[in-house]
Amino acid sequence: MATILDGKSIALIIKDEIREEVAAWKAGGHCPKLAVILVGEDPASQAYVSAKRKVCRDVGMEYEVFALEDMAEKAALEQRILTLIARLNEDVSVDGILIEMPLPKGLDKDKICAALDPDKDVDGMSPVNRSRILSGEDGLYPATPASCIEILTRSGIEISGKHVVIVGRGETVGKPLVFMLLRHNPTVTVCHSYTQDLASFTGQADIVIAAVGKPGLLRKSMVRREAVVVDAGITPTAEGLCGDVAFSEVAEWVSAISPVPGGVGSLTTALLLKNVLKGLKRRGA
Ligand code: NAP
Repeated sequence: MATILDGKSIALIIKDEIREEVAAWKAGGHCPKLAVILVGEDPASQAYVSAKRKVCRDVGMEYEVFALEDMAEKAALEQRILTLIARLNEDVSVDGILIEMPLPKGLDKDKICAALDPDKDVDGMSPVNRSRILSGEDGLYPATPASCIEILTRSGIEISGKHVVIVGRGETVGKPLVFMLLRHNPTVTVCHSYTQDLASFTGQADIVIAAVGKPGLLRKSMVRREAVVVDAGITPTAEGLCGDVAFSEVAEWVSAISPVPGGVGSLTTALLLKNVLKGLKRRGA
């Protein structure tokens, strides 16, 4: 049986680190604060918002949700969001801003993300942080690809010199992950829906990272016995959340694997809060 890459335990350690840093900021007279912008009534987003509130409370960070109703008139709604972002950018009590995705259809996501102060943009959505990923410059990087890397490094798995095959080149996970991983010196192969004979690529990997959104896509026959498998996929099903990996058969075969739930997804909120503190330091607040 593979070693389980336990996201929940790693998240506890990261939260301890955050709690300590938050306490130091509070002792200096400033309580770090995350502001979340929630537009519309998406039930999954509402659940994520409450989960973040719980983690903020747990580490002693301030948290405020700015909920905006969806409106038929999208230009007016977009203007309201941009005005709110401008206000939060200027507000010295706010250290991080997160926009819950997905935004309602008809809004210009790129324009909205571009309005974020890059040093308050805790999920690395602004074009400034995106270009920093490409250039290798330090910045606030997106939490889910960061979680894929953190779950490996905190489990003592070497990335440097290894062959990492990423399945999925989506804007949220796969694409930023390529350049974030390259800072750790692996050889990276990227597969996607046009890849012919996916197994011939995943079968060469030391580390496979799946970020697709198709339950059971990665089977035992597609990976080497020594491989480490990280599953970033999340698909809600009648049986609960499912990853991209056929977990029970692959876990019997490979050397290490992250489960869903309890793997990559368990780290993302903690890493968002790490970014709040990183942004705070970058702004020299
Ligand atoms: P996305 O934008 O929909 O991208 C999916 C990628 O998978 C695309 O690059 C697509 O290829 C590729 N793909 C689709 N079918 C494939 C196949 N049969 N073989 C190989 N590649 C295939 O997704 P995303 O937003 O990056 O998210 C990826 C997954 O991560 C989703 O399950 C999402 O729910 C999950 N996620 C998890 C977290 C977390 O906290 N753990 C956070 C965010 C997202 P093309 O580019 O050719 O279309």
